[in-house]
Amino acid sequence: MNCPYQFFAARGLNLSPSEEVQEALSKSDYGERVHRCLEAFHQNIEWLPGPFNEVLSVKTRDAAIACLDDIAQQVFARDVEDNFEHSGWLEQWRKLIPAYIDWQLSNATEWRFLEAEHKSKINWINNLQLSGRLDRLDNNDSGLSVIDYKTGQSASQVEIQQGEAVQLPFYAILAAAEFSKPVSKVSYLELSSKVKTAAQLADEELETISEKISERLSLVTEQMLAGKPLPAWGTDSTCQYCNMDRLCRKQAWTN
Ligand code: SF4
Repeated sequence: MNCPYQFFAARGLNLSPSEEVQEALSKSDYGERVHRCLEAFHQNIEWLPGPFNEVLSVKTRDAAIACLDDIAQQVFARDVEDNFEHSGWLEQWRKLIPAYIDWQLSNATEWRFLEAEHKSKINWINNLQLSGRLDRLDNNDSGLSVIDYKTGQSASQVEIQQGEAVQLPFYAILAAAEFSKPVSKVSYLELSSKVKTAAQLADEELETISEKISERLSLVTEQMLAGKPLPAWGTDSTCQYCNMDRLCRKQAWTN
């Protein structure tokens, strides 16, 4: 949605760098480590401490913080060994751990953890497959809650409600199809200077926006299959993270 040409180059021409290369070169390393820590805290990962199997409460809060801290030390250990500056990453995350546990305490009054880092793939219309990685799924009697962890910037509430930022409703489409359950909430969990729920959609509003995004996706894919061109129209905020900038030659046509 942000830039049709970026999609064409990455997926149509298959020029998207592999995840391994992106991980090695991008600044998302910190985010990936934090994801891994939270995954190990909630579900078993071989060779890492955790998961935290006690019932989380005010009484067990300190033990939970210690468990996540232990996981963090191990997850970041190699980075710190490789480059001492990376210890700043570890310290940044360690400072947030008590706030994460407090957020989890409050979240657990309504939701139960279901799964972390779920690689989702569903068959969709026009013989297409939709895929994505769901950072975390919770559930309760009303359905599923999809949470996307954000260690950097995330889309605003307005951008999501206007249908410009499609990530969260798209995840709702994936989770509902794959788990055959209604998704009653999708949200960003900010893990930057503090831990807090950021933009979110729930219930009827989520259903309406997901339906509209699904319709638009269906229309756009039909148009692509019919050969409609895919122009390069990324905004500055999209272009700054784009790997295809040399190919579309944006710098040449904007100078
Ligand atoms: S650099 Fe910008 S305009 Fe060019 S492909 Fe990437 S997002 Fe699109």
